[in-house]
Amino acid sequence: MATSPPAEIGMRLEDIDTPALLIDLDSFERNLRRMVDSLRGLPVRLRPHAKTHKCPQIALRQIALGAVGVCCQKVSEAEALVEGGVNDVLVSNEVVGARKLDRLAALAHRAQVAVCVDDAANVDELDAAARKAGVRFDVLVEIDVGAGRCGVAPGRPALALAQRVLGRENLRFAGLQAYHGAAQHLREGSARRAAIGAAVGRVRDTVQLLADHGIGCTWVTGGGTGTYLLEAASGAYQEVQPGSYVFMDADYARNLDAPEASPRFELSLFVLTTVMSRPSVDRAVVDAGLKASSVDAGLPLVHDRPGLIYAQATDEHGILRAAPGAALPTLGEKLLLVPGHCDPTVNLYDWYVCVRAGRVEALWPITARGAVG
Ligand code: PLP
Ligand code: MN
Repeated sequence: MATSPPAEIGMRLEDIDTPALLIDLDSFERNLRRMVDSLRGLPVRLRPHAKTHKCPQIALRQIALGAVGVCCQKVSEAEALVEGGVNDVLVSNEVVGARKLDRLAALAHRAQVAVCVDDAANVDELDAAARKAGVRFDVLVEIDVGAGRCGVAPGRPALALAQRVLGRENLRFAGLQAYHGAAQHLREGSARRAAIGAAVGRVRDTVQLLADHGIGCTWVTGGGTGTYLLEAASGAYQEVQPGSYVFMDADYARNLDAPEASPRFELSLFVLTTVMSRPSVDRAVVDAGLKASSVDAGLPLVHDRPGLIYAQATDEHGILRAAPGAALPTLGEKLLLVPGHCDPTVNLYDWYVCVRAGRVEALWPITARGAVG
């Protein structure tokens, strides 16, 4: 059951209860538009990744600005998105097991649903679930273009899987999922260019091999916030699927500028926290620990307070230290933190508190929060 929101519409920023997950609406809206503007004139569709925000209200805003639909990673996320009014969802991931596949098939009655595969037995399982429900899935064969996560090897293994999909009555071979996750946070633009250059080569070889066997492939999708302009400009991809650009985070902020790979997006997601203890002269304790901001990609940063360092996170507490010459905040003071990694931080909250000019303008439920199955 969702908790009640930590704020009311019209409230001043200072009065919001903490910890709370804030969206700076001006920066967020500029990020949405910057994405669309950056793709103008490039031969690709935009299908943003909803794993970042887990919120149909944001997905619908992205679609209103021109996105063709959204991606998600989990069936439960797809359910929340369709329930919230999204009618075109790509599960950019493998879905394994009859129970989940039955749910995915049920969704295909209500929305356009596509899914990825990287295994022959899973193709059969998908077909059986689709037949049972009386639907047809769009299926993308996922190839590993260098990330070393899911996906069959490019070339012959991908061809074999595409042929298997083509042989199944309740499946339609739709194209290739070719996302290079490991490239997104390579700090140097040259490293991102090299990684995506190699990925594009693997895509091209696979599309050519499919064509040599009479299989057309007009839907190649991939690309995240760190590299999507490289995929978009390659000519080998017809769709990009960036997610984090809506919010950004401390980890993405550490990427060096590489305008050919990605424009600079603004930080728009913050954790509002309160100093709850000042037990000694050299430390302040805030009420946002690792249950309020994910630490997998590094600790949060204290926003706009030079010299204040978030030094340590425990379950419910964060320890702040001050650099020489900087003053620690007083008891009860509120601070903004920039999460290390936006996606897992979002998954910790039931509500976005949307703020503009220091006031709460909207409260959006994060309906796919905790939807990890
Ligand atoms: N596509 C897939 C398959 C992903 O796993 C992710 C994120 O991990 C994305 C797209 C979006 O990447 P980002 O949030 O870096 O833009
Ligand atoms: Mn992420």
